[in-house]
Amino acid sequence: MHELSIAVELVRMIREELRAHPEARLKTAHVCLGALRQVERTTLQFCFEATIRDTALAGAQLSIEPVEAAARCRQCGLEFAVEDKWFECPRCAAIDADLLRGDELRLTSLDIEAVTTEAGAGTKESRTCLPADKLSNCE
Ligand SMILES: [Zn+2]
Repeated sequence: MHELSIAVELVRMIREELRAHPEARLKTAHVCLGALRQVERTTLQFCFEATIRDTALAGAQLSIEPVEAAARCRQCGLEFAVEDKWFECPRCAAIDADLLRGDELRLTSLDIEAVTTEAGAGTKESRTCLPADKLSNCE
């Protein structure tokens, strides 16, 4: 299944990121999902949960931010929404446009909860947003 392989890849990237934060527990992983990916959001969430079940990441949420696809015409510069990978400029009918967004599937940030074991401190809740730009695209 398409969504399952994506979920497995996301979990691999998340584990890689969390290696630098061994004391942290993952609360939420945020991803951007382009419309052209043809990924069913609820299916991806289901696959993500299935992938992390019985692991240290169990209970973490996957937050998916949908990204509408858009392209810019190279002939007239018009920016327009697209629904599939073949697009024609609605103004000048040129079939010469650059896709601006909509093809991404990217891990953007991780909300983690730091667990400290100092005497009396117990569990310290802290939301940390890990920087996203160094995270690579899936596939
Ligand atoms: Zn045009």
